[in-house]
Amino acid sequence: MEEMHVSLTPGERQRFKRHLLLPQVGEEGQIRLKNSRVLIAGAGGLGSPLALYLAAAGVGTIGLVDFDRVDVTNLQRQILYGEQDVGELKVHAAAKRLKAMNHAVHVEEIPRRLDGDNAQEIVSGYDLVADALDDLAARYVLNDACVKLHKPEVYGAIYEFSGQVAVFDEGTACLRCLNPDPPEPGEMIASADVGVLGVLPGLVGCIQAAEVLKMLLGTGGMLKGRMLFIDALQMRFEEMELPANPRCPLCGGGLRR
Ligand SMILES: [Zn+2]
Repeated sequence: MEEMHVSLTPGERQRFKRHLLLPQVGEEGQIRLKNSRVLIAGAGGLGSPLALYLAAAGVGTIGLVDFDRVDVTNLQRQILYGEQDVGELKVHAAAKRLKAMNHAVHVEEIPRRLDGDNAQEIVSGYDLVADALDDLAARYVLNDACVKLHKPEVYGAIYEFSGQVAVFDEGTACLRCLNPDPPEPGEMIASADVGVLGVLPGLVGCIQAAEVLKMLLGTGGMLKGRMLFIDALQMRFEEMELPANPRCPLCGGGLRR
């Protein structure tokens, strides 16, 4: 565990000047970001803008969990990577890129597939989790671990031209409130076979990053109890109420968190 920081260095005061000018951040908030530990599950299309903006914003420790390697078909939207990274472990290539941007950020590389056996152990080391996965079964595993460990989770998903973002937290809906069980593997189309507009994960991942930062800072209104829908084809943003489901087998309507 890293030491707790109680101040900023002169260099950090300069680097984060445009944050310090915001009353909602200020020096206190920037120190809070520096002491924060965020887990990004999935270092792909959503994880790219999440990791880049959180590292740029001064989040002190970023955990990246992804077992995959960079493929040439990723480069159309996964802006963490370049041609030289093809074949490399994503978490490793990502760590190099993030360190090059902000040497002070601690990147914890976790090249593992999230499953029921390791999810709680991985999640337990972080303050907050961003779900940037492309695998629905893994999303349920992550959601279950977050509910059990009382960790807030910023959920993001994309499909073709559309996306969704929501924040699951204490007393609000979780993923199983929406759908108690994931679809059977045979009912889903493999994500590698679904088209996606290159910029879409950028839009959705940036909204997730904004929610992560506000949650760490304890400021602003969050996407709790509501889900934001992004339609990039018609360019419409809409939202839906997302009440906790009292019959949810996991959280019992937010009460068991
Ligand atoms: Zn629930």
